Amino acid sequence: MKLHEYQSKLIFARYGIPIPRGRVASTAADARQIAEDLGGRVVVKSQVLVGGRGKAGGIRLAKTPKETEEVATQILGMEIKGLPVRKILIDTAANIDKEIYLGITNDRAARRPVIISSSAGGVEIEQVAKTNPEKIIKVYIDPLLGLRDYQARNIAIGIDLSKEYWKVFGDICRGLWRAYIDCDATLAEINPLVILKEKTLLALDGKMVLDDNALFRHSDLAEMRDIDEEDSSETEARKYGLSFIKLEGNIGCMVNGAGLAMTTMDIVKYIGGEPANFLDIGGGAGSDKVAAALRIILSDNHVKVILINIFGGITRCDEVAKGILTALKEVKPTIPMVVRLVGTNAEEGRKLLEDAHLLTAETLVDASRKSVFAAKG
Ligand code: GDP
Ligand code: MN
Repeated sequence: MKLHEYQSKLIFARYGIPIPRGRVASTAADARQIAEDLGGRVVVKSQVLVGGRGKAGGIRLAKTPKETEEVATQILGMEIKGLPVRKILIDTAANIDKEIYLGITNDRAARRPVIISSSAGGVEIEQVAKTNPEKIIKVYIDPLLGLRDYQARNIAIGIDLSKEYWKVFGDICRGLWRAYIDCDATLAEINPLVILKEKTLLALDGKMVLDDNALFRHSDLAEMRDIDEEDSSETEARKYGLSFIKLEGNIGCMVNGAGLAMTTMDIVKYIGGEPANFLDIGGGAGSDKVAAALRIILSDNHVKVILINIFGGITRCDEVAKGILTALKEVKPTIPMVVRLVGTNAEEGRKLLEDAHLLTAETLVDASRKSVFAAKG
């Protein structure tokens, strides 16, 4: 789950990280009022859950409350990368001298969190990694020991930070680490962390991604979810308890079990196809879940074929087949479907589907080949 900039910065502030004064608004009139309260120049920032808002024109400076209202009206009417802007953050404008990148994420290969920093902040870190990899400093954090003081100092040295800022930079690193751990985050990022002309540090932008699987123990954070700004298919999937991740390809996959779903995607790719999604319908899924899964897959108009791969363990394949047939009465796909069922009562299940003129397959390779063939038209 992604948090908005204003939400992330409020969390950062609780951990002692300095953030600009400001408030969030959803109307231009409120924006004007906030600008009046803050006094002086402000920056009007669209709150959408995508990066690169600056480049898209979603971040603008305003000198007066009147100008703030005008700029707010424009930004509130915008769409950024397909997402409508419904909220804006009005912050006191900063006099930037230098922009730094500071972020923490999990490095799965290293099996531990990593703190990443760069003197080339402001722009996307992926870009810096491509053009100036030597400007990226990485320090791995032992999850049991936590971030050590000497590590924060090494980062400061690595990004050529002037010595006068080391102490407060260290405090910011430790605050970010605590926020990352306490919230069960998978990303906590300040980009840019700026050095102001007034010679202090300030977190101008903030981004947090929380681990969905840990949200059950953070009801206060779970409430921050902004459904308006999420991909609607993911919201729908969550409603039915389906694990769904949208991808770029054209083969819609419906599988039970996360491991089997990953394997299915691997085989599809191996044979030369591109999966349109990851979808785990879980064990014992009834026809309502199957129907929801079909609807979600079909809502992506890139999908050219649906590949269903079910292993019947406790779930019986004939029950799954009946579920698929019931679901098909409700959702009427016009694209081909390939179904592979194995396990308990697979024979009976396949027979039911064949009688209904559905394409079946006995092995995963066979099913994937048929799907890839169908996707190529
Ligand atoms: P992003 O484009 O979505 O990452 O949004 P950011 O909040 O990082 O803002 C993008 C850029 O806008 C920053 O890197 C700054 O260069 C600039 N910016 C943001 N806030 C201010 C501000 O208060 N004053 C000035 N002068 N520039 C700002
Ligand atoms: Mn940014």
